[in-house]
Amino acid sequence: MTPRPPGTESASSGRADAAEYEVDVDLDAVVAEVLAWGGPRLRDLPWRHTRDPWRVLVAEIMLQQTQVSRVIDRWERFCEIYPTPADCAAAPLGDVLRLWQGLGYPRRARNLHLSATRLVDDHGGEVPGDLDALLALPGIGPYTARAVLVFAFERDEAVVDTNIARVLARLVGRRLSPKAAQQLADALVPAGDGWLWNQSLMDLGATRCRPRPACEACPLAVVCAWCVAGHPDPDPAIGSAGVGGRQAPFVGSDRQARGEVLRDLMVSARPSERYRPEIVASLITDGLVVADDAGVISLP
Ligand code: SF4
Repeated sequence: MTPRPPGTESASSGRADAAEYEVDVDLDAVVAEVLAWGGPRLRDLPWRHTRDPWRVLVAEIMLQQTQVSRVIDRWERFCEIYPTPADCAAAPLGDVLRLWQGLGYPRRARNLHLSATRLVDDHGGEVPGDLDALLALPGIGPYTARAVLVFAFERDEAVVDTNIARVLARLVGRRLSPKAAQQLADALVPAGDGWLWNQSLMDLGATRCRPRPACEACPLAVVCAWCVAGHPDPDPAIGSAGVGGRQAPFVGSDRQARGEVLRDLMVSARPSERYRPEIVASLITDGLVVADDAGVISLP
């Protein structure tokens, strides 16, 4: 480990200037190790074979709250049926929701459908390669917007998901705020290798630096502050940039009840009185269900 005062990294490597963090880690060594590790080992995920911005956007939205293994088939089917934003925008939301079934958090499907309409109306049917324009789309936050720039447009941006935030916090040996994690991630992106760098770091977090880390198989073991220190409590990843938050139990939840209503409506319209009023009301508020004057509810 090479002590390095804050700011000197950018002067020597051309990476982000004036980073507002202090690290005691050799960032050049980190980048070299992660790229060498990731190059031959990246998980073979179908969205990594495309640079089509729409397909990348669909993947990133599906991956926001759903495991990779459950997304693969759905993503392939979705891209087959809606290969462009125009195809998605032209479909009834109900059809998009049917395709979304099983992925959970269906508000994402509505936001994707709304985004497709916005892309057709305002961007000529194309996904823009511009951070502000991406952030203006419904349901697109900083992570997803940057992910599209990196994974579709191959920009040298940094994404920080929970996997990456966990690696970064342990690497520097302390809890990182979202802002600090993003600044550190920005400073690490190697020029010209943003795509491989972000995919590699993500896979490192997904396969090595898991909640229970496999440091013996990690290329960062000799430079990682938390590992070198012998894994002292508390784990700096917990509470860093969104890491550590547990999902509320699904069974018995409103999420489950909402999913059951939607599943019924995928078969046919139903009287709303069959269901808890607050569940129906929340689905109507979210634009996932419509009701007629007789109180019959259906998909939009
Ligand atoms: S050495 Fe261990 S704690 Fe550090 S980044 Fe690798 S897996 Fe994570």
